[in-house]
Amino acid sequence: MQMETYSGTIESIHNADVIVCGGGCAGVIAAIASSRNGAKTVLLEKTSVVGGTATNGLVGPFMTCFDPKGERQIIKGIFDEMILRMEKKRGAIHPSKTGQVSAYGCYIRLRHNNLTPFHPEAIKMVMMEMLLEAGVEIHLGTSIIDVIKENGKITSLIAFDGGKLVRYSGKVIIDCTGDAWISMKAGVPCEMADPETKLQPMTLFFWIYNADDKKIDEYLSQDEENRYLPYYKLIEKATAEGNFPINRNKIGLYHMLNEGEWRLNTTRVQGLSPVDEEDMSKAYIEGLKQVEFLMDFFHTLPGLENARIAQSGANIGIRESRRIQGLYTLTEEDLIKPTHFDDVISLCSYPVDLHPSKGSMTGTSYKKETTDLAEVYGIPYRCLLPLKVDNLLTAGRCVSATHEALGAIRIMPSVFAMGQAAGTAAALCIKNDCGPKELDVKLLQKVLKDQGQCMDY
Ligand SMILES: Cc1cc2nc3c(=O)[nH]c(=O)nc-3n(C[C@H](O)[C@H](O)[C@H](O)COP(=O)(O)OP(=O)(O)OC[C@H]3O[C@@H](n4cnc5c(N)ncnc54)[C@H](O)[C@@H]3O)c2cc1C
Repeated sequence: MQMETYSGTIESIHNADVIVCGGGCAGVIAAIASSRNGAKTVLLEKTSVVGGTATNGLVGPFMTCFDPKGERQIIKGIFDEMILRMEKKRGAIHPSKTGQVSAYGCYIRLRHNNLTPFHPEAIKMVMMEMLLEAGVEIHLGTSIIDVIKENGKITSLIAFDGGKLVRYSGKVIIDCTGDAWISMKAGVPCEMADPETKLQPMTLFFWIYNADDKKIDEYLSQDEENRYLPYYKLIEKATAEGNFPINRNKIGLYHMLNEGEWRLNTTRVQGLSPVDEEDMSKAYIEGLKQVEFLMDFFHTLPGLENARIAQSGANIGIRESRRIQGLYTLTEEDLIKPTHFDDVISLCSYPVDLHPSKGSMTGTSYKKETTDLAEVYGIPYRCLLPLKVDNLLTAGRCVSATHEALGAIRIMPSVFAMGQAAGTAAALCIKNDCGPKELDVKLLQKVLKDQGQCMDY
């Protein structure tokens, strides 16, 4: 049954050139890029923290931003600037220093080279510092609840901001909500895999301290399999005895910056929809129960016997939900070939990494064709351009890609790079008085290159 969803008086109106919706990794960088390139930019974020999955979700490290051989850094720009600032605050290690297989990457061989371990507090501070320096108008605690569209363009967004209804009007809108929420409301066709049969599961990250790093390393070094599927034998045994209630056959653990501190990517919530309110509450509750169980189970694992919990995510992590249909849809074949796009806006090298919607098959299943990639692949500008709306761009995990291709480009370095491209494109549209679909892509590529991004395959 359709119902009127809200009523009330708009209490204030804000006008801007560019409105960025959602302040996760994509949105923050889009807002910085837009403002630095001269557009009056507003950032709307529904929580009180910027960074999205990287902060509220506690997810990390940043996956690789290097080519497959680990020789060339292929994602730089604002992303690299942010890491260098975090490193100065002793809140990150630059990916040029973390090398190939390491504890920072859960000892995984498959393209877990040149990762960036970081502290979630450092990213919060550095993102805020860069947003303020760039002159972005930041509205936290602001949920966008409606989209007003006229003649194929979004004219305003209605948001619930500090207990009142506010209208934000902008010339170019960037959807960085992760769930393509703005696009969906504006009538852009979207796709989402079925949670029961295909959609990647959700995971509540948590973070421990007081682990014994040396003992973990020694135990995991006992055999090759154990090194890459940490603790699998003990989990197999516990599962056979009915004492391991999580659909996962390894402990995904990623060393953080300090001795004894690890992030845990091990809970797994399958079959629920990340765009359904009731399911999201169930998913978080289930994730937290699994964290509680794991903290107890760790007492039986060498090196983790005395581990204590530091924190769990404020939000459960969503690997994928809605994807827009854009002017181009990136496919797995484009990664494997790789297709050399004339309108490339970012390079990437991470393989297709799809966690199963059912069962406990290994922590992660990588598509072999893409783990063996010798070359980098590109993301074209057209993937950021939704059908049906003229003044809208997207960036982050809701761009136009198949389920498989998104399984590769969803990692944070690519999300940052897409954010920089979308924000820069929006500002260039304001300067050149055109819409995102009319923008001269060569000009966009030139500005991105001048501002530190790489586009040479
Ligand atoms: C479990 C898990 C493990 C992962 N592991 C890694 C890893 O190890 N390394 C790596 O690099 N990547 C990893 N990723 C991928 C990566 O973290 C995400 O794909 C990426 O952070 C998504 O960024 P985003 O900005 O597109 O979306 P999000 O981070 O989801 O940000 C969207 C933002 O929009 C806001 N928002 C949504 N709707 C509204 C609204 N209506 N009004 C206002 N604001 C709104 C949200 O509050 C949020 O802040 C992982 C992801 C998950 C879930």
